[in-house]
Amino acid sequence: MTHPNRLLLVEDEPAIARSVEYGLTKEGFVVTWVDTGKRALEILREGAVDVLLLDVRLPDINGFDVLRQLRAEGRRLPVIMVTARDEETDKVVGLELGADDYIVKPFSMRELASRVRAALRRAYGELSQPPNEDELRLTDVTVNFSRLTALRSGEPLWLTQTEYKLLRHLSQNPRIPLARESLITAVWGHNAEIEADRTIDVHIRHLREKLEVDPANPRHILTVRGIGYKFDP
Ligand code: CA
Repeated sequence: MTHPNRLLLVEDEPAIARSVEYGLTKEGFVVTWVDTGKRALEILREGAVDVLLLDVRLPDINGFDVLRQLRAEGRRLPVIMVTARDEETDKVVGLELGADDYIVKPFSMRELASRVRAALRRAYGELSQPPNEDELRLTDVTVNFSRLTALRSGEPLWLTQTEYKLLRHLSQNPRIPLARESLITAVWGHNAEIEADRTIDVHIRHLREKLEVDPANPRHILTVRGIGYKFDP
């Protein structure tokens, strides 16, 4: 699963463009920078943009015309207008034309990043959450592997150390069938001669009882016949 992070920056002032490009790249965005409205529309027509950061005052067609054209072509991607402090009226025009948000220069990189994330969240929902390796979210269960805490429907859920290790290994290898032997090695290490295949089955049963809505018909921890188990997020 990829999360949307491709940002097109339309800005004709190189100093601002460079600092935005640097700041947002550091925040995990893939930034493309253009300095004219015409070039922006060309790139947007190619479709590989998740969010648009659009300066109002551009040397050729202005930001409003870019936005108008974009919406006329049926492109629904989130758009954040960038405007100077003395252009307050721009806000109204921009929002009427279908901008999702607007930000006034000068802005901090932190504010910008948080506005961009908020726009992505509204547009793409859960997809926009960056993957957090320490946390697993299922329908009504959240497991935090670094704090060793788990919640089910907001209530604390008690997992053993073994169950945390097993669940972590399964969830870090989604949709891959994992043999019982490899699960034993992952949880107890290479010298785990004591642990028989059946031990894994017992721990899996316990995990299902704790995590699955219907443990008899698991949706997340699935049996792979003749091999072992696989995790389906
Ligand atoms: Ca400008």
